Amino acid sequence: MKFNTELLHSGFESDKATGATLTPIYQVSAFAHESPEVLEKIFNNKTPGFAYSRISNPTVDSFERRIASLERGIGAVACSSGMAAVTMSLLNILQSGDEVIAGAGLFGGTIDLFGDLQAFGITTHFVDHVCTDEIEPLITEKTKAIFAELIGNPALDIVDIKNVAALAHRHGIPLIIDSTTATPCLIHPIKYGADIVVHSSSKYINGSGDAISGVIIDSGNFKWDTDRYKGFEEYKKLGKFAYLAKLRNGMWRNVGCCLAPMNAFLNAIGLETMGLRVERLCENALQLAQFLDTYEGIEVNYPALPKSPYYSLAQQLLGGKGGAILTIRAGSKDRAFKLMNNLKIPLIATNIGDVRTLVIHPASTIYVHSSEEKKVNAGVYNDTIRISVGIEDIDDLKEDFSQAIDKLKEE
Ligand SMILES: *Cc1c(COP(=O)(O)O)cnc(C)c1O
Repeated sequence: MKFNTELLHSGFESDKATGATLTPIYQVSAFAHESPEVLEKIFNNKTPGFAYSRISNPTVDSFERRIASLERGIGAVACSSGMAAVTMSLLNILQSGDEVIAGAGLFGGTIDLFGDLQAFGITTHFVDHVCTDEIEPLITEKTKAIFAELIGNPALDIVDIKNVAALAHRHGIPLIIDSTTATPCLIHPIKYGADIVVHSSSKYINGSGDAISGVIIDSGNFKWDTDRYKGFEEYKKLGKFAYLAKLRNGMWRNVGCCLAPMNAFLNAIGLETMGLRVERLCENALQLAQFLDTYEGIEVNYPALPKSPYYSLAQQLLGGKGGAILTIRAGSKDRAFKLMNNLKIPLIATNIGDVRTLVIHPASTIYVHSSEEKKVNAGVYNDTIRISVGIEDIDDLKEDFSQAIDKLKEE
């Protein structure tokens, strides 16, 4: 199947009981069974079935199957948010004393999370560029995971995933890729060696900005050495399903960050049109980037522009597409704010992946608690505006940005 067909049909079965064309919203907490024997079997994973929606739910299960198939994984676990997915993907592996190597240009929430994990004895070393030259010197016996965003948000740096995965595997370390901004439309990170993939499905998978959620997909490829990953002892017998089984039966279930059935439903609907949306979003983003690049005093950062240092990786890995986010530098905070106030179409909001164009000034919002160094690493300056491009008609977007920039000159 090609991608758009897959989005509709891969890993999906219509509701057997009723023939409903979408998996309905099973808005219940618990599932009753005919005997204690049956419930015992369900609880002990001896028979398929549902017991309690924190642990599993048919609407959520259907969403997970579709995502797993789409990302070429052996299974997926859905979470209440992208941050929950990032957190669980790591805590399923890590224990006190362990170290992580991560990109410095990560999403602000993830950077902050690594700070929070310090209180539990987990130390993170950040690299400015997620490449083998910078990662290798930081690897020690304690390094238990390498974490990177395929396209950094908002740094818009692209990971040299093949080489980084090969390096990680030479040292017996799994590579976890947050592929939120790249989307399964542009790349399947597992094909390039990622062991675990996470998404904030609140973004491009959902598409309309109407439900927060996250997913963790396991490739099943990583061999968990139980001398290094002691927590895997009990799950080793499950072979390639060890990571997912540990997650489902352990940290994820006990923290209780399950996805609500209603949100799983909304995300499953979003998923079906993701191919069409992302195609349009990338086309709009490229056109807007090229257009804004012609303005003096406006500096554009977009990976699919030939001047970007990540242009060749975008060609190799993403089929020449650059995703739907670009950043511009307006010259000063004052000019950035004025430009944003002059815009008529984009909404001023802290989200990405919406069908509507959204703009934000990251330095005064998402990165307001970050150090100067962290901001610079994330490509966030006082004059930076992040644009999450929507599916509007590109001529309207160009005209709007054009009048907003022209007004700056008048002052
Ligand atoms: C938004 C985002 C997250 C966090 O997801 P939430 O659904 O907001 O919790 C994580 N990583 C990236 C790259 C994101 O853009």
